[in-house]
Amino acid sequence: MIPQRIPYLLRKKEEGWKVFGILPGYYPKEILLGAEILPVEIWDPRVDTAFAYRHLQHTVCGIVKRAISFLMALPKGLIDGILVPHTCDSLQNLGTLIKDLLPVTSLPCIFFYPPKGPYRKSSFEYLKRVLKVLQRDLEAFGTQAEGSEITRWLNEMAKVYQAYRKLFELLTRDLFPSKNRALLDLIKGFGYLLPNDILEAFGEISKEMSPNKDLGPKVFISGIYPYEVELIEMLDLLKARIVAEDSLFLTRRFPNRTETSEDPYEELAYRYFSTPPCPTRGLDLGERADYLIQRARSADVKGVLFGTVKFCEPESFDLPTLISVLNREGLNTLHLEMEPTKGMDMAYLTRLEAFLETL
Ligand code: SF4
Repeated sequence: MIPQRIPYLLRKKEEGWKVFGILPGYYPKEILLGAEILPVEIWDPRVDTAFAYRHLQHTVCGIVKRAISFLMALPKGLIDGILVPHTCDSLQNLGTLIKDLLPVTSLPCIFFYPPKGPYRKSSFEYLKRVLKVLQRDLEAFGTQAEGSEITRWLNEMAKVYQAYRKLFELLTRDLFPSKNRALLDLIKGFGYLLPNDILEAFGEISKEMSPNKDLGPKVFISGIYPYEVELIEMLDLLKARIVAEDSLFLTRRFPNRTETSEDPYEELAYRYFSTPPCPTRGLDLGERADYLIQRARSADVKGVLFGTVKFCEPESFDLPTLISVLNREGLNTLHLEMEPTKGMDMAYLTRLEAFLETL
């Protein structure tokens, strides 16, 4: 059973954790955990976005609009600070707005600027430096992460990555019987649960593991945050199964690394540079296409579903070329552009149905 976000967050505060709201993208979770800060990621709060339209252009993505509206409507004392990673231009602007213009400035708002590709030799040293700057910023906020604590959380997070990888392996082998809706709760837990609570949820699920008898078409889902509830419910309705994923929300932040370094900052940097290709890190498109083709083949899927957010520049710039490369390689694709909070109508369902018939 995955704990609900707000009751969970309140319980952790009672236990002495401070809570930071984290805007979408990569950030070094282990440094925050080491400083006894629970990072709670803000991707899809169900809020009225009227506030955002007074402060942002219409062409800013729905995730950012929801995030700012949510932060403005937050009850006092629910979170203790905000971290804004430099994932895209929209988020960078949002960070400035939060910090300089809006009443929430009473909360500390920290920026995090990881390096963008193409990486050079200096990128590694630069990242180590910004990781230490973050640590120093947290110190100014009155909380400090010791090196040994960061190492402890690095080890815990390695187990979490392994658990999610195992989950997708089971899905590929038809051994995870749940519907996509239950899978979604488990995926979303990555954005706010402590590592031990994620691992506990996995432990409970593994007790109920049995072969999946409901074998509909297998889908590989990709996007920055393709987890609109309506989309997932439509997939359930059409009996399609998500068996592989490539989202910034989840696996694009999973490092592909087996060694460990004793220095926690070095380890964090190595992990960052070993994560899969993502347009928010400015990486090579050919590399991304090769990665997706290899993932699709190893999961034995015939189609990739791109669920994107309207006005998301980093993802939208990649897609036309990426889709034509995947199609040339024999993979069917469907691109569904969604506006968060607006729901999904019958036209989406029809397109999804037509796509699934090709798999
Ligand atoms: S959806 Fe795209 S534009 Fe919006 S915050 Fe994420 S990366 Fe930035």
